[in-house]
Amino acid sequence: MSLTDTAIIGAGPYGFSLSAHLRAASVPHQILGQPMDAWINYMPPGMLLRSEAFASNLHAPQRGFTLEDYYREKGMRYQPMGMELPLETFVDYALWFQSKLVGDIQAVDVAKVRYIGGHFQLALSDGRSLNARKVVIALGLKDFAQTPAVLQGLPERYASHSALYGDLAWARGKDIVIVGGGQSALGLAALLHEQGSSVHLIMREADVIWHPRPQTSRGILSRLARPDAGLGRGWRSVLLSDYPQLFHMLDHRRRKQIMEKSFGASGAWWLRDRVVGKVKISFETEVCSAAVENDRVVLRVIREGRESSVAADHVIAATGFTTDIRQHKFLSKEILDTISADGGLPELTSNFETKVRGLYVIGPASAHSFGPVMRFVYGARHAAPCVARHIAGSLQAGATADAWSSAEGRILERTSDSSIL
Ligand SMILES: Cc1cc2nc3c(=O)[nH]c(=O)nc-3n(C[C@H](O)[C@H](O)[C@H](O)COP(=O)(O)OP(=O)(O)OC[C@H]3O[C@@H](n4cnc5c(N)ncnc54)[C@H](O)[C@@H]3O)c2cc1C
Repeated sequence: MSLTDTAIIGAGPYGFSLSAHLRAASVPHQILGQPMDAWINYMPPGMLLRSEAFASNLHAPQRGFTLEDYYREKGMRYQPMGMELPLETFVDYALWFQSKLVGDIQAVDVAKVRYIGGHFQLALSDGRSLNARKVVIALGLKDFAQTPAVLQGLPERYASHSALYGDLAWARGKDIVIVGGGQSALGLAALLHEQGSSVHLIMREADVIWHPRPQTSRGILSRLARPDAGLGRGWRSVLLSDYPQLFHMLDHRRRKQIMEKSFGASGAWWLRDRVVGKVKISFETEVCSAAVENDRVVLRVIREGRESSVAADHVIAATGFTTDIRQHKFLSKEILDTISADGGLPELTSNFETKVRGLYVIGPASAHSFGPVMRFVYGARHAAPCVARHIAGSLQAGATADAWSSAEGRILERTSDSSIL
């Protein structure tokens, strides 16, 4: 069976950034997954990134690979803040970064991971397999999509989660209800309205919290009082954006409080004019039941104690994500039993390592340990160098390094060994 030192599962911004760091440290590794799949296939074309341009960099160990470098190379005008960054441009940037810095990618899914005799056995969706000394899970948000119980039983044709889009052409000319009051709900509402869908937003909140357009030129006193950081403006944002290791030192209760209070439902400044006055919004409204009647989805909603009904062709739950590592079905029961505590939140060391030695989790699934910054691309600047340092250090120190470090990270061609499935 073929070997590699480190298998990175996931080929998004976190996987790419880590691969760039491992490559620079000469750690043999293999990256597995469809490159930028979540961004290419599960976010709507035409979407603008919510993060500011300066906070949307993938992270490389060397200079020359920021979004700004990419814009310069393409002859495009760059602005660190207040610049509209289209999804398509961000994807191109990430693929440019990949082509220059990332090791070989196998565009396959991992179907099973087991931990046997001190190493990991990975079965791939195309029948091949790979052994690795270490595994890093960098799988983003998609598996954690959360749909409210009232919408869960509906057939796919009538209900879906915002995490699934993608192309919105299917909804042209249709009545669409969106449940949710955050960026995903507002962003989808704008795009759907602009393509000719009739949109009704239903949210629990009393109003939309709109972020103000960033002032690009501020005086020194204003910048000192409220500095700009990856996650927003102010000293709290600076701490949460740039000191995830401090967050990691807090006790569990305090971390949970911060996560609950941080960055609730809100909308980016550039969405306001595209939503307000353009789409119908029902505030302080809860969905209490849903059913399909005469080829329409009918929602019973409650507002200020009064019930009414809303009918549509389709309802989209833009209701966010809840981390639960047990949703990564490819992890063996033994691994899940060992790493998942507290409702599916993996406990992580300060090096992002789980309780299974050599198994790491980075990206959004590490946010409960390192703070909300890990839910954004910006967190890769912390996670990638930290994990790469730890892996490179243990490779040098490891007694088993000889056998493993000689492996080139190759994947065997189709194998008849199906025992790991
Ligand atoms: C609608 C929306 C808008 C967002 N906008 C922003 C934004 O503006 N700025 C920002 O910083 N963040 C934004 N985010 C958050 C952002 O998506 C995540 O922070 C980021 O994608 C995490 O990167 P990642 O590398 O961990 O995972 P992802 O980019 O999600 O990549 C996951 C990778 O895992 C692979 N994969 C999945 N299953 C398997 C498997 N079984 N085997 C192998 N590979 C697998 C996929 O193919 C993919 O390559 C947004 C999220 C959403 C949903």
